[in-house]
Amino acid sequence: VYNFAAGPAVMPAPVIAQIQRELPSLNGSGMSILEVSHRATDFDRIITDAEADLRALMQIPDDYAVLFMQGGGTGQFAAAPLNLATDKRRIAVLDSGQWAVKAAQEAAKLGRQVDVVASTRAAKYTRLPQMPDTLPAGQYDYLHVCMNNTIEGTAWHQAPRTGTTPLVADMSSNILAEEYNVNDFGLIFAGAQKNLGPAGVTLVIVRKDLVHQVPGLPSMLDYQLFMEKNSMSNTPPVFNIYAVGLVLKWLRQQGGVPEMQRRNEQKAGKLYAFLDQSRLFHNPVVSADRSLTNIPFMTGDAALDAAVVQAATAAGLMNLKGHRSVGGLRASLYNAMPLAGVDALIDFLHAFEQHH
Ligand code: PLP
Repeated sequence: VYNFAAGPAVMPAPVIAQIQRELPSLNGSGMSILEVSHRATDFDRIITDAEADLRALMQIPDDYAVLFMQGGGTGQFAAAPLNLATDKRRIAVLDSGQWAVKAAQEAAKLGRQVDVVASTRAAKYTRLPQMPDTLPAGQYDYLHVCMNNTIEGTAWHQAPRTGTTPLVADMSSNILAEEYNVNDFGLIFAGAQKNLGPAGVTLVIVRKDLVHQVPGLPSMLDYQLFMEKNSMSNTPPVFNIYAVGLVLKWLRQQGGVPEMQRRNEQKAGKLYAFLDQSRLFHNPVVSADRSLTNIPFMTGDAALDAAVVQAATAAGLMNLKGHRSVGGLRASLYNAMPLAGVDALIDFLHAFEQHH
């Protein structure tokens, strides 16, 4: 079976096997990771290693903090405006799709003025919005960008240039899938459940000088508190951090982010090449803006799309149904998806096309 789900999504098979082996007893302790206290030395090593491995993989400089939070990407849609607020209370957003819109709505709900500085909504998000040449200096607390648009299948392969305005990046669906320079960002966040591990832990990488005390902030969203308490001001999601830690070690063994990017370009490149020559299937995104990790495609006929999903499921190619808001199909090719899975999908789609 190959799992093409957008999230929760495919995990590396060796990591699943390791979790299975270690689940009854962690390091011969006779206790499961599900039973281990977050104050135990075993867990201290797990969270310390996870942070060190993430820092090595992304070359995170010392002036950035790494936080393990909860609440998913959606939690960060609230945490970012609350923590990075100054008396401006004003943020800018690049409207590249539904997840950027959700972030903007959450910030607006919290009383921020949200300015959409560019949008490709009118083009049905089949390309990325152009960053304006100038963003007025000092006007915004930050600019929010969704680096990889999970639903629409677009991605920034380089950070948009914002001048002195801090850049806040939602990397929920492509963290560690392609190389970025952390120095280009003020804040990066990502829910774990696509490229990193099980749902329930959320990574936050934040430039320390942006973090300050904000009166009245709920503790669970407070970057300063998480920074001071090493992400353990309350009980952290112990199992989830353990599983993410195993995935990070796996990533380092595989050759790190450059190797992941190489594999992801190869996988996505093969699928796009097939779709672009197909007479039946079509990907609507302009080629420069295409995502490496989420590839929507369609036949243009909803009943036929549904037939593809049904036949694919029977063939062990799972979760290819497109997002409910856009329909069609979508293949998510995260780090743990092997090339063999993409080859099997292309063979299947090719055979389907022959018969339709
Ligand atoms: N941001 C992006 C880019 C996403 O793809 C998702 C979920 O799919 C979210 C945010 C929301 O994440 P969560 O479900 O962890 O709140």
